[in-house]
Amino acid sequence: MTLGLTLQERIAEVEERVSRACAASGRERSDVKVIAVTKYVSLETAAAVLDAGLMDIGENRWQDAAHKWNVLGDKGTWHFIGHLQTNKVKDVIGKFQYIHSLDRMSLAEELNKKASATGQLVEVFVQVNISGEDSKFGLPPEAAADFLRGIAGLDRLKVVGLMTMAPHEGDSELTRPIFRRLRELRDELNQLGLTAEPITELSMGMSNDFEVAIQEGATWVRLGTVLVGHEEGS
Ligand SMILES: *Cc1c(COP(=O)(O)O)cnc(C)c1O
Repeated sequence: MTLGLTLQERIAEVEERVSRACAASGRERSDVKVIAVTKYVSLETAAAVLDAGLMDIGENRWQDAAHKWNVLGDKGTWHFIGHLQTNKVKDVIGKFQYIHSLDRMSLAEELNKKASATGQLVEVFVQVNISGEDSKFGLPPEAAADFLRGIAGLDRLKVVGLMTMAPHEGDSELTRPIFRRLRELRDELNQLGLTAEPITELSMGMSNDFEVAIQEGATWVRLGTVLVGHEEGS
């Protein structure tokens, strides 16, 4: 589908589709931010993505991201979107401004500890497994409120949003209830007032389902294949 297009053409096409999804659901274009997921592409392509003006970069494994970050780290805002092992926190802290995959207490404590040592604040998304698939990381939705209570005392963490991954469906409409549920959960958690400031962000939607996610309230979509492509051997 995206074969043969240049990076510029893919960016233009995605921009068009994001704008249309916003318009179709009465949202402002500025309500939705795009993370360019560079995990499938080379350092050169990641550099071209930043040059093209996409400033939010997503990577899901430190081992794969390290080289790109070492060269390009100060040129953009980095989002850690993959499962984060507790012993890898030391590698990503201070480098990735956002962590999208906070899903357990031990990880929260380690992030807080390492951030305290460097005196910084880490902006986190709590990952929720809405679909209930065994293969997906994330807290069950019914555990989210207690989790927020549990981490309330960790003063180096700022919960800015919720994140989910939907099952890969042939028909993106099938993902709609998953995204809707994450939005409802955010609103329910805000009703309970468990965070110092309301949780505003929803990190949801990937190449195959981002328009539906936008219609259901996504504020960050994470786009790899459709936006930056998928290179062999990267
Ligand atoms: C790889 C990845 C993406 C992007 O995937 P595409 O389908 O290529 O857009 C988004 N989010 C997470 C957590 C990922 O690991």
